[in-house]
Amino acid sequence: MNTRRTFLKKSMHGATATLGIPLLTKDTFASVEPTGVNGRYWRNWFGNERCIPNKIVRPSDLTELCQTIRRSEKIRAVGSSHSFSPLVPTPDTLLYTGRMNRVLDLNLNHRFVQVEGGMKLAELNSYLDEFGVTLPTFGGIDQQTMAGLTCTATHGVGVQWGSFSDGRGLSAIELVLANGELLKLRDTDRSHDKYLHAARVSLGALGVIHSLTFKVFEAHNLEEITRPASLEEALRPEQYLSSDHYKFYYFPFTNSTYMMFQNRTQLARSINPAKKWFENTFLAKVLIEGVFKAFSHAPFMIPDAMRLLTRFLPETRSVDRSYKIMIQAMPPKSPVMEFAFPAEKAARAIEVYREVVSELSSRTENPYYANFPIVVRFASGDVGNYLSHAQGTNPHCFIDFTAHPAIHGWEEFFAILEKRMIELGGRPHWGKIFRESPKKLYPQFDLYNQVRLELDPSEKFANRFIDSLVTSS
Ligand SMILES: Cc1cc2nc3c(=O)[nH]c(=O)nc-3n(C[C@H](O)[C@H](O)[C@H](O)COP(=O)(O)OP(=O)(O)OC[C@H]3O[C@@H](n4cnc5c(N)ncnc54)[C@H](O)[C@@H]3O)c2cc1C
Repeated sequence: MNTRRTFLKKSMHGATATLGIPLLTKDTFASVEPTGVNGRYWRNWFGNERCIPNKIVRPSDLTELCQTIRRSEKIRAVGSSHSFSPLVPTPDTLLYTGRMNRVLDLNLNHRFVQVEGGMKLAELNSYLDEFGVTLPTFGGIDQQTMAGLTCTATHGVGVQWGSFSDGRGLSAIELVLANGELLKLRDTDRSHDKYLHAARVSLGALGVIHSLTFKVFEAHNLEEITRPASLEEALRPEQYLSSDHYKFYYFPFTNSTYMMFQNRTQLARSINPAKKWFENTFLAKVLIEGVFKAFSHAPFMIPDAMRLLTRFLPETRSVDRSYKIMIQAMPPKSPVMEFAFPAEKAARAIEVYREVVSELSSRTENPYYANFPIVVRFASGDVGNYLSHAQGTNPHCFIDFTAHPAIHGWEEFFAILEKRMIELGGRPHWGKIFRESPKKLYPQFDLYNQVRLELDPSEKFANRFIDSLVTSS
């Protein structure tokens, strides 16, 4: 039987990787090393996961991919390296997928697109727009690869659709297996069901994804309206039920939120500069780089600063292409944790968050002041996969917790929040920060693992994270 301690110990990889909360050193943030594969070295976007693999391979087509996999003993694929969790690190072969980034087929009659796994979402979005079509969901940024997105059930906003791994949108997957053979999985073949259920959120452990096929829909503009509101107003179900896309920011130590609605429109493109200012300047520069950096030595001033800042939230109205308006600029490097709940639990989850914020800020020794708004997004859960953190077609809320990395104490804050969110029934995002094994939260984990062992009996595609996950209790 594995205790939590042995689980965490087993997940340690090299000097820096843990299952969840990263071992941070000062140089993590000072680092200027580029994200991803860099010579013989790899690190993730946030800088908390690194490895020096034995070998780095960069196949550029299916033949090379199959040969490479056949010849490797242990191999792990990497996309854009945007996951915070230790999904990627390996001491063995690391397979960079960025050269396999083509559209293989776009069928406008049957409304699907087949792409290679290493294609970035940004590239695919612009490509599809040229042909007047779009994916049903967008995500919050667009630098991830299509395979990387599905491996962790990355999601966007909007209760009509689930994540990129939702079986209603992801209809086929081609995987290169350990023996170098290509396995073609299609949702039109019922005998493929269990394999597709495992492969739609594969954690990179079934094989290397060569291609993915997504449904596409008519391209459109979205009108975005943003405005400040009380927490009670932001939490009303009609907000997410009556909008195509809805999310809000909640500011700790206040009762204030900033609501964002996006709805389909025939109106022409027009961008309110205050919109870009909020996400690209206010959140990134004012909060992270400015105010809270200044307060890292006087964090007790954060609650007042937060109250003051909420007075400057602008009301805006903008219209743009759907995939453009939904994508925000890359945020500054900060740790992020995320939990998914059925939407009706959003109010209780935020209440618990406020209790934790209040407990930590009011203690006499080592008080911690939450220093970043939380983001509450509403989207559908997924169908047709075993490991999505939001299951089923009902609306779910996804709550992102971010912290300023320079303000001491965020690791403890995250650890306490994680425990409380799991007690409430929340499931962590596979690609963000967590420290406890999420396995027990997935009733279908064993089904996933059976498929994994059937497709990869020698566990060629496992790494320490996968080993620890599978053996955890
Ligand atoms: C700034 C930022 C913003 C984010 N915003 C969102 C958001 O809005 N919504 C959300 O849900 N998540 C979000 N995330 C999380 C992110 O989308 C996921 O972690 C995603 O998996 C990263 O994709 P990637 O291409 O970087 O994959 P990587 O992090 O490189 O890899 C992730 C997993 O995919 C596997 N993999 C990659 N390619 C292949 C392949 N071809 N075959 C098999 N396995 C493969 C890897 O082995 C690994 O297990 C965000 C992360 C960051 C850093």
